[in-house]
Amino acid sequence: MYNWAEKDLKYVWHPCSQMKDYETLAPIVIERGEGIYLYDTEGKKYYDVISSWWCNLLGHCNPHISSALKEQAGKLEHVIFANFSHKQAIRLCERLTAILPEGLCKFNFTDNGSSAIEAAMKVSFQYHQQTGNPQKTKFMALTEAYHGETIAALSAGDCDLYTKLYKPILLDVVRIKGPDCFRCPYGKTRDNCDCECFEQAEKTFAAHGEETTAILVEPLLQGSAGMKIYPPLYLKKLRALCDKYNVHLIADEIATGFGRTGKMFAFNHAGVSPDIMCLSKGLTGGYMPMAIFVTTQKIYDAFYDDYNSKKAFMHSHTYSGNPLACSCANAVLDLLEDGSILKQAQENAVYFNNIIKEKFLTHPNVGEVRHIGLINAIELVENKQSKKPFDSNLRTGYQIYKRALKEGVILRPLGDVIYFNPPLIINKNDMDYVTDIARKCLDEILPD
Ligand SMILES: *Cc1c(COP(=O)(O)O)cnc(C)c1O
Repeated sequence: MYNWAEKDLKYVWHPCSQMKDYETLAPIVIERGEGIYLYDTEGKKYYDVISSWWCNLLGHCNPHISSALKEQAGKLEHVIFANFSHKQAIRLCERLTAILPEGLCKFNFTDNGSSAIEAAMKVSFQYHQQTGNPQKTKFMALTEAYHGETIAALSAGDCDLYTKLYKPILLDVVRIKGPDCFRCPYGKTRDNCDCECFEQAEKTFAAHGEETTAILVEPLLQGSAGMKIYPPLYLKKLRALCDKYNVHLIADEIATGFGRTGKMFAFNHAGVSPDIMCLSKGLTGGYMPMAIFVTTQKIYDAFYDDYNSKKAFMHSHTYSGNPLACSCANAVLDLLEDGSILKQAQENAVYFNNIIKEKFLTHPNVGEVRHIGLINAIELVENKQSKKPFDSNLRTGYQIYKRALKEGVILRPLGDVIYFNPPLIINKNDMDYVTDIARKCLDEILPD
């Protein structure tokens, strides 16, 4: 039989991987996908409960999205987006305006999440330069944040694993100690607190607010930090604080948008609007690389003037507004529009969280089970009482990952946090199955 994995390793340098690990765990070569399942070249089935890096929203090869994409490919694959436009992009903006938090109405297209973050940072900076606040040259972000991998986006991030080495070439971002609900220093719980930790943001704004152009935040869910979840009240308070200091609130909804948190956008839980929102991942259902930042009329107006005023946002990406990607995004909205998929996902989220609590909380190394929408995270600790983490060199999460792969379940933990972030269409049978397998693998790696 042809050895695809061997051929892969001859050429491919995989993302976010120590390539030497592939000596003991060869790349799994996927042939096709259907619903939440993937099938490799030997026909083995995998449960994609991490939505292929959180982007697959409604299952693989969804017939409606696939046919929309095929139809668009027969009409127009791409066109320059400066001075030219096309129906798919125009329809998409109009439809998104109707469902986004109030006030977000001007759309700028990029082709990946990190680029949308960078563009949002630039637009915020330029806004303040053009509206009489040249001293606003800094950005703020939370501890353990993740906003992407390109230089400015990486600067906003705070996961040592990705950023530490590059510090000498990164922007100097002002860091706010963010919420840490599992190990709350104020002794509170997520559902019984007044976001006492917000005093950290107040202190930092008092010191640096005047020189800050924007704060970036992953609303309610800090994904790469280990699926850390915090209450909506934090965002409400942040909105008020940003207004006080004339600082833009940039919502990075790249991971949380399109129903992942149980509402269409995470900001919907807080009932306030950011000044700029970044979207990607679920935007095209996981079909095509595309991202958007969307902002307010107020920000847009600060750039609108005669050409020679030099106020235009001179930022572009070759594939801005790609029609194939826009056709997928429109197809996603076709499917989400009547609300039935989100409603079903919300119901299933309750079931999913219940069975995960039932199956995992009894294990001596499970420190916490937390969830928002269908996203569930299981944080493993060496000591349940003290919440002491495992030595990361043991790679406990990675051992569980490898074990579960044998059973055809893709867990891919973040450090020692096992999580599920499945497509919204996952059914109860599959939830039962993947949680059974995950518990079995946990028991094998960490015997009860
Ligand atoms: C994935 C992600 C990004 C980066 O998007 P890319 O398309 O990988 O560049 C940024 N922020 C968050 C919250 C993400 O989950």
